[in-house]
Amino acid sequence: MLRVLAAALLAVAAQPLAAREIAIDIRVAGAARITSETMDRATALASNVLRASGLEPRWIDCRGDRAAAEACQRPGASNEFIVTILPAQPDPDSCVCGIAQRPLDGTPGSFITIYGECVRNGANAFRIDAGTVLSVTIVHEIGHLLLQRGHAFAGIMRARLDAVDWARAERGVLLFSSSQAARLRAAARARQVVAAATASPDGS
Ligand SMILES: [Zn+2]
Repeated sequence: MLRVLAAALLAVAAQPLAAREIAIDIRVAGAARITSETMDRATALASNVLRASGLEPRWIDCRGDRAAAEACQRPGASNEFIVTILPAQPDPDSCVCGIAQRPLDGTPGSFITIYGECVRNGANAFRIDAGTVLSVTIVHEIGHLLLQRGHAFAGIMRARLDAVDWARAERGVLLFSSSQAARLRAAARARQVVAAATASPDGS
């Protein structure tokens, strides 16, 4: 999870070297009021951060009346992340903007919930654009689904980002570390193998 309205120590994220990119799908759905400008900014920033780690995202917009599209109706693929943006946190005192659902049986998780009001509050608190907060929240939660549970002391997987982190995020340089990026690629590659096996049950 990502708590937005909190300050912590200075973070410096290592610049990872991108390897051959591995495709992932990110389906975005939900009823929160997110402007096209915010969504475009978020997807552009998030794409750059993911690419820096060797992942190539394909965005599937299922918000509003696009939810009826075929790509939004089918079950999620193994290398697909389904992001639902809800209007507000059920707990008004919570500063958690995003939650990744990791199945208890250890299978790879795919579902992420993000709270639009929290994103806007975080943007206002740190005087940055909501697209930046949304991008970091999406990428951070994808990190939770591909990496081990828990947080890091620096970079985009910190539990609480401070003003310096958000300034880096705005410039698109709040990243995964090189070791995190390697683990991201390995986890995404493993999901691709599962997808291939599912499409071809005899393994051919
Ligand atoms: Zn987290």
